Amino acid sequence: MKTLGLLGGMSWESTVPYYRLINQGVSARLGGLHSASLLLASVDFADIARMQSAGAWQEAADVLGERALALEQAGAQGIILCTNTMHKVADQIAQRCPLPLLHIADATAECLHRAGVRRVGLLGTRFTMEEAFYRDRLSAPHGLEVVVPGSAERQRVHDIIFNELCLGILRDDSRRAFNQIISGLQFEGVDAIVLGCTEIGLLLSQDQVSVPLFDTTEIHAAAAVDFALD
Ligand code: GLU
Repeated sequence: MKTLGLLGGMSWESTVPYYRLINQGVSARLGGLHSASLLLASVDFADIARMQSAGAWQEAADVLGERALALEQAGAQGIILCTNTMHKVADQIAQRCPLPLLHIADATAECLHRAGVRRVGLLGTRFTMEEAFYRDRLSAPHGLEVVVPGSAERQRVHDIIFNELCLGILRDDSRRAFNQIISGLQFEGVDAIVLGCTEIGLLLSQDQVSVPLFDTTEIHAAAAVDFALD
């Protein structure tokens, strides 16, 4: 089994499910008392969030590249960057650290393709919903169509992520807001919704919506297990 290096803390609320899901995945495959071989570098998210809102992406890439290198030196054999948004600097991290970095959008695109999804609604931070680094990576490999909500809805989703979910606050009215936004996307003909932010699955689950959900935390953790065991 390979040792995985998790780059987490963005936010720590969603790093917790990564730890659980990867261990559950290894246990399901190997049985008995088996669990994952993991190293965790967990950052102070206040610093990273400040860099995001200041547009200081190179600074953030330097911080994460440095932490990835430390994971390699500690014995990691692959890097799992436990956030969608910070995949904006995935290439810079990969330049700094020679380990394979399992890209969350690649794993998600593959999963959507296998499920036969053609048109998908994407929810995440404004960076993830609005910028090419994520949308193109999701759509390009299999010609998937990616639809995002309107500007006011994108801001609402972004605010719920940073002001509530990253702080562990789960509110019914925010769940209702997600449901309404998803209904709007269904009206635009999407076959499925990508939860393209690692915290959304903390608030919303499949039994609460009528369209298939693809939770990037679950998909990425499953890809991590495959990488560790194959
Ligand atoms: N964890 C979130 C994501 O998957 C948002 C936090 C961040 O900006 O990294 O995008």
